[in-house]
Amino acid sequence: MTSIESKRVQYRKYLERAGVIDALSKALIKLYEEQNKPEDAIRFVRKFMCESCPDDAQYDIMKNDLEEAKTHISKLEQELERLRGQIKKSPEEYQELTIAGYKSLMDDEENISSLLRKYLSPELLEEYMLVTTPAPVDAYLYDCAVSGFEHHEAPVGIFAADADSYDVFNKVFDPIIKDYHNQMDNENDVLQKDADFGNVDEIENLDPERKYIMSARIRLARNIEGLPFFPKLTEKQFIEVEEKVRAATETMDGELIGSYLTMADIDAETQAEMVKRHILFQRGDEQMTTAGCFRFWPTGRGVYHNPAETFFIWVNRSDHVRIMSMALCGDLGDVYNRLVNGLAELEKTLTFARHPRYGNLTACPTNLGTTLRASVHIRLPLLSKDPDRLFALAEELQLHIRGTESETAQIEDGIMDISNKRRLGFTEFELVKTLQDGVVALINAEEELEIAGQEG
Ligand code: ADP
Ligand code: MG
Repeated sequence: MTSIESKRVQYRKYLERAGVIDALSKALIKLYEEQNKPEDAIRFVRKFMCESCPDDAQYDIMKNDLEEAKTHISKLEQELERLRGQIKKSPEEYQELTIAGYKSLMDDEENISSLLRKYLSPELLEEYMLVTTPAPVDAYLYDCAVSGFEHHEAPVGIFAADADSYDVFNKVFDPIIKDYHNQMDNENDVLQKDADFGNVDEIENLDPERKYIMSARIRLARNIEGLPFFPKLTEKQFIEVEEKVRAATETMDGELIGSYLTMADIDAETQAEMVKRHILFQRGDEQMTTAGCFRFWPTGRGVYHNPAETFFIWVNRSDHVRIMSMALCGDLGDVYNRLVNGLAELEKTLTFARHPRYGNLTACPTNLGTTLRASVHIRLPLLSKDPDRLFALAEELQLHIRGTESETAQIEDGIMDISNKRRLGFTEFELVKTLQDGVVALINAEEELEIAGQEG
C-alpha cells in the first residue's frame, strides 16, 4: 500500500469509529425519504445534524446583531479615517516617506511606465522634497505623488494637491502634462486656449432614428478657487465645497431646476441603483484612495439633479464639481446646450480655479485644459467584429473607445463608450465637434457594413 492509500484507510476508519459516516448517512437517507424536497438542502442537512442549532427566532436575532456590529465597525472605521486625516506629519517624516516612496518606485523594474517615474529625476526630488505650497495648505511633493509612489502601475502617478502645486512643483508637472496631452513640441507659453463653447447650434442630434446611440453625455470638471484640491481638503472644507455648490444651484432656472441630495441621506440600495444608472458616483479604486480622494467619506459628497435626470452636478467626486448633461438618445446638441447653460449659471456665483498655461485646473493632470469629455454609449455590432479596423478608425478620428461601465471596462455586445481623446490644447467647441464628426463617420461605416451584408 502506498502511504497515501494507507492514510486514506486510516482516515476512513477514524470517521467510522467516530460515528461521522453513520450520522452523515442518516441525514442523507432522511433527505431522500423527504416527500417535498426542501429548496435549501444544505440547511436541511445542517438542521438534521445539529443538536444546538439556533431556531429561526434565534437566527433572526443573531442576524440583527451582526448587522448592528457591521454598522458600528463602519462608523469606527470612519472615525479612524477622520482622526488619521488630522495627523500632521513633520518635515522629517515627509522627507523619509518621500525618499522611501521614490526608491520603491525606481527600484521596481517591472512597472516602469508611469509618467511620475519618467520625469521625477533624483535632482528634482532633492530640489522639491522639502518645499511646500503656500500656507495654510502646505502641500508637499509627497502629498501629490503618494499614489504614484505606492501604485507603480498607475499611468500618471501624480495629482495636484492644490492649484499652487502646478507652479511650485512645475518642473515635474509640466513635462508630465505635455507628455500626456501630446504637447511635447508645443513651445508656447499657453497650452490651453481661452474657453470657447462656440456656436451651440452647430451640434446636432447624431441619431434621430435612435438606431445606434443609447445615450449621450458631456462632463466638465471644476474646482473652486481658493480651496485646496481633494488630496489636501480638510473635513470642514469638504463641507464648505458642498455648501457653496448647494447655494449656487439655488438660482438654477427652467429645465436646470432640481434638488441637491447629500450622500449620507441616500440609502445604500438607492446609491447602488443610481450608480448602475450612471447618475451617481461611488468610492473608487486603490490609486484614488491612496491619493486621499475618499477621506471623510461620505461627508460633503452629493449630487444635484433635475427631475428629468438630464443635468447633474456631482460634488466632491475627486474634483470639487463635475458638471454633466445627459440624454437617453443621440441628441448631442441638446446635451451640449444644457451643459453650457448649467455652467454659466454656476459661474454666476462660483469662481473656478484657472491657470494661464493649463486652463481649468483639476486635481488629475489628465483632465486639465477644457476638462471636457463628451461621450456616447453606442451600439456598433458590425464594426466591433473587426476591432483592428474600429480602433484604427477611432485613432484617426481622435476618439477614445472603452467599455461603458468604467475607464477600464471592455466592449460588450458591440456596445461601447466613445469620447473625445483630447482635453487640452483645443477649445470646448472643437472637442465636441470632434466627437460629433467622428461618431457620424463611425455610424456611416457601420451602415456600409450593413448594406454590404445585405448584398453579400
Ligand atoms: P467620466 O470620467 O467622464 O466621468 P467615467 O467613465 O468615470 O467618465 O463614467 C462616469 C459614469 O458616467 C459611469 O457610470 C459611466 O457609465 C457614465 N457615462 C459616461 N458616458 C456616458 C454616456 N454617454 N451615457 C451614459 N452614461 C455615461
Ligand atoms: Mg472618470
